[in-house]
Amino acid sequence: MTALSLANAAYLVAALLFILSLAGLSKHETARRGVAFGIAGMAIALVATFILVAKSEPGIGLVLLIVAMVIGAAIGLWRARIVEMTGMPELIALLHSFVGLAAVLVGWNGYLEYRDEPNDLPGDAGTLLDIHNAEVFIGVFIGAVTLTGSIVAYLKLSAKMKSAPLVLPGKNWINLGALVLFVALTIWFVVSPALWLLILVTVVALALGWHLVASIGGGDMPVVVSMLNSYSGWAAAASGFLLGNDLLIITGALVGSSGAYLSYIMCKAMNRSFISVIAGGFGIEAGPSDDTDYGEHREITAESAAELLAGAKSVVITPGYGMAVAQAQYPVADLTARLREKGVDVRFGIHPVAGRLPGHMNVLLAEAKVPYDIVLEMDEINDDLAETDVVLVIGANDTVNPAAAEDPTSPIAGMPVLHVWEAKHVIVFKRSMAAGYAGVQNPLFFRENSQMLFGDAKDRVEDIIKAL
Ligand code: NDP
Repeated sequence: MTALSLANAAYLVAALLFILSLAGLSKHETARRGVAFGIAGMAIALVATFILVAKSEPGIGLVLLIVAMVIGAAIGLWRARIVEMTGMPELIALLHSFVGLAAVLVGWNGYLEYRDEPNDLPGDAGTLLDIHNAEVFIGVFIGAVTLTGSIVAYLKLSAKMKSAPLVLPGKNWINLGALVLFVALTIWFVVSPALWLLILVTVVALALGWHLVASIGGGDMPVVVSMLNSYSGWAAAASGFLLGNDLLIITGALVGSSGAYLSYIMCKAMNRSFISVIAGGFGIEAGPSDDTDYGEHREITAESAAELLAGAKSVVITPGYGMAVAQAQYPVADLTARLREKGVDVRFGIHPVAGRLPGHMNVLLAEAKVPYDIVLEMDEINDDLAETDVVLVIGANDTVNPAAAEDPTSPIAGMPVLHVWEAKHVIVFKRSMAAGYAGVQNPLFFRENSQMLFGDAKDRVEDIIKAL
């Protein structure tokens, strides 16, 4: 068996393992197995690529590959070790930008390689060259949009750039114009592949990626992250076509389509139109400068909260990003266990975009060993909230904002939220009266049945446990 056919067989096995990995990741119970399949697939793919390069380019090619793998592995291990769970979304956004950059470089290389010697292309050079040029152009375009889009997403998620949307006049026309220009330039490039056209499309795509994500408001960022995930998949698939690498095509298509599907599910969960989000149309125009007078908020001490909890029959905990920041999941799990020992019915209500990435809260609660069966999705718990004695809102804000359900002028109007305000008592854990990620005021804090428990969520939950 030649090295090439061996590598191709290995690529096929790796592709199957990636499919099994995705299937495994779709459920809590099988997620670990899914990750294991993914690691195995990636290890096989790396070894096969290594063998291929060692056979075909035993000199400088192999040395470059080893240097790249050592540097990449060292940076990857270092970042993975130090990254906080709350920093995951921005890290993922940054990684997407690398895929975009790689696609741009592969595209440019594909162009320069055959520019002067088109007859070097295997097969019938004429038609193949046209297809090749179209692949180069499309790959560079998707890659460049992914590159700058992901950088802006990274800057917004890590608060290095304001999360409010950039609103240029006629922003939808700018996006549409860029797309039309891309199609026209692609046809032109296939007819006459001039270097300046490739430079122009790279610049247009870099600007479009930046503009697309900059004009999307804070509350819609989760969809953007999964959308960029999808783009990075298509960019990788485009590179796969250029490099003639089947595994890259399959993997890129898997990432591209699963990312697109995830974006669609999230849009549905947030009651947003998919097209408007990707066109940057659903930005938050109002910003935090809401001057409505909601009245006064009331405060509660940890001791009184403990009393309220001890006397309750049913308690629902709705965690959010603040629980992740405070790393309060361990004391929260402890509090849950103690209340359950006292016979209180404790359950969790998880909003689909609570935290900073899909599934964020589920991961934290699983880490703290909270039993899966008391962790419910928003739709499963919303109808029960009216019969609940006490709701503990731990570091959540936008996801429990009644304005989304009641105020059609609110920037987050229409986004489904947890109806915590229907419960008898609501205790909100946060450090100040500041707004949440979407930057909008939350009328929940001023309701008759709400009380604020200020301070770091972890400290306050520990205080309650002490008082209990
Ligand atoms: P929010 O960002 O709306 O609110 C988090 C709250 O936690 C803040 O009000 C903050 O208030 C409080 N907080 C922060 N640190 C602490 C701490 N140490 N102790 C106690 N409280 C703390 O979070 P939600 O989870 O409710 O909503 C998620 C938001 O993030 C949504 O707008 C969503 O669209 C967006 N988003 C979601 C993504 C996803 O995929 N899930 C990805 C990107 C964005 P204070 O500062 O006063 O303490």
